[in-house]
Amino acid sequence: MKETNSLYIFGPCSLESLEQITPVAAMLKRRGLSYLRTQLYKPRTKASSFQGLGIEGLKILEKLRLDFSVDELRFVCEAGSVEQLAVIAPVASIIQIGARNMQNFELLKAVGSHTHAHTDYVLLKRGFANTVDEWLEAANYLIQGGVPKEKIILCERGTRSLTSPTGVQLDFIAALEAKKSGYKVIIDPSHGSKKSEFVLPLAKASLQLGVDGLMIECHPRPAESVSDAKQAISIQAAEDFISQYL
Ligand code: PEP
Ligand code: MN
Repeated sequence: MKETNSLYIFGPCSLESLEQITPVAAMLKRRGLSYLRTQLYKPRTKASSFQGLGIEGLKILEKLRLDFSVDELRFVCEAGSVEQLAVIAPVASIIQIGARNMQNFELLKAVGSHTHAHTDYVLLKRGFANTVDEWLEAANYLIQGGVPKEKIILCERGTRSLTSPTGVQLDFIAALEAKKSGYKVIIDPSHGSKKSEFVLPLAKASLQLGVDGLMIECHPRPAESVSDAKQAISIQAAEDFISQYL
């Protein structure tokens, strides 16, 4: 059963526009969930791909705040550098450190000094070729930098696979192993499958594991997502899942 501020995080891969994000926010409010992906910075494999709106996106978040209070809606933003941390930390309720930065030790050390009273959590994704031990050591850098252990969420997002048809394999054993360390653990079946048709089946399977939450990418027009369109599910599909399973 979901409670207020349950760790079920939904939203688009990247923040694109007010028109894009508002219907996702409205759906979460209808369903009593509050954590919305509002990514201003995107770590992209290709230098030519959309890199996120950056500080321009802050204006969109300000406008969103006119319609949704902090009690109703909380922003989840990724930082890939100390400079980005300084931009997102004042507005983010969850500070996300992405898979590619799981061992960016200088960034990890800096997170603690950028947390505020409004920072609910720091979410640390597992690198797609990192072991659970390396993941836990990365979390230790957050703790050494001043982030309390109870504010850390570990997120399993799949590892690179030579055999999976999508090139990625969600690693349930890693999530279960990480859970034994006492951290909150959530699963991201979107990056963990890279294909929209598999996202909700994997989300359902994840719930069976007894993890603490999920992170799922959804978009008002999935095919038009500027990033990760192939794994985006519709708002309707996300809402049906929430009403049926959470
Ligand atoms: C993301 O969640 O926006 C993301 C980039 O995922 P990952 O770091 O797991 O690739
Ligand atoms: Mn994405």
